Amino acid sequence: STEEPWRRFNAVRVYMADLESALHYSLRVEVSAFPVINGDALKALKMYMSVLAKYFPGRSVVKNSLKSVDSWLQNTSGSDVSFDDFREALDNTAQAPDTALPDRVRWVGCQGSQPHLRGYPCAVWTLFHVLTVQALHAGASDGLEVLTAMREYVHAFFGCRPCAQHFESMAQESLSEVSSSTTAVLWLWTRHNRVNNRLAGALSEDPDFPKIQWPSPEMCPLCHTLKVNGDHKWDLDQVLPFLTKYYSNSSILTDFLD
Ligand code: FAD
Repeated sequence: STEEPWRRFNAVRVYMADLESALHYSLRVEVSAFPVINGDALKALKMYMSVLAKYFPGRSVVKNSLKSVDSWLQNTSGSDVSFDDFREALDNTAQAPDTALPDRVRWVGCQGSQPHLRGYPCAVWTLFHVLTVQALHAGASDGLEVLTAMREYVHAFFGCRPCAQHFESMAQESLSEVSSSTTAVLWLWTRHNRVNNRLAGALSEDPDFPKIQWPSPEMCPLCHTLKVNGDHKWDLDQVLPFLTKYYSNSSILTDFLD
């Protein structure tokens, strides 16, 4: 059997292995469904690559590769890019000195109790939370840069089409309210919780990883407060620093990388 051994992990930490696996899967597997990339899909891929080149944290060999794939892609002329050429760019840049791109998936914090649970969708959320926080730390002036890249990437390439439709309708409804890198971090957090709420108890839920309104009171007691009438209320002054620390580069664990 090709089943992999369970890797013990800390369920309240972010793992670089998941982020690098998301890179591999998003660039090589999802995009490969398009033998020719053009139009809105090409625009989406260019935006996604640009955001990755700017904000993907971690190993410099990986960052170097993302930067060279990005400059190759942004400099391609013409309206079509074939997936073969894109893949070759990924391969070539990964072979140049001081570069490396992951070439397989290895889920850690995103492992599911069964092979069809968690994995890539979990890592997509994790990656984009990390990218919005990186953009905030970098002082990005355009609050919409990362979220627009996510929106367009998901719209064009995310293999789960109902997911892409749901996400697009949330974006249409309220993405225009995002004005800064801070509101971008909070927008993605509230929308992710809305998805958690909708999916709690659904078939796609991993019974070992129930959908909750995140972070739990155990993870961040001060994030949770009560209104006078007893209803739950988030304390955003606590949630924001919690998110920026949880998803910051310095908090990411590097276990299980090659
Ligand atoms: P995930 O929801 O994937 O979350 C990953 C990790 O992020 C969690 O383990 C937790 O550590 C952290 N986290 C959880 N909530 C938050 C939060 N609010 N803010 C910050 N961090 C948080 N599945 C469907 O069945 N139907 C859909 O319509 C659907 N739409 C999706 C849309 C998008 C854009 C994406 C990326 C995925 C979608 N999915 C959908 C998949 C689903 O949301 C989960 O990713 C999947 O079920 C795996 O869940 P999980 O338990 O690994 O946690």
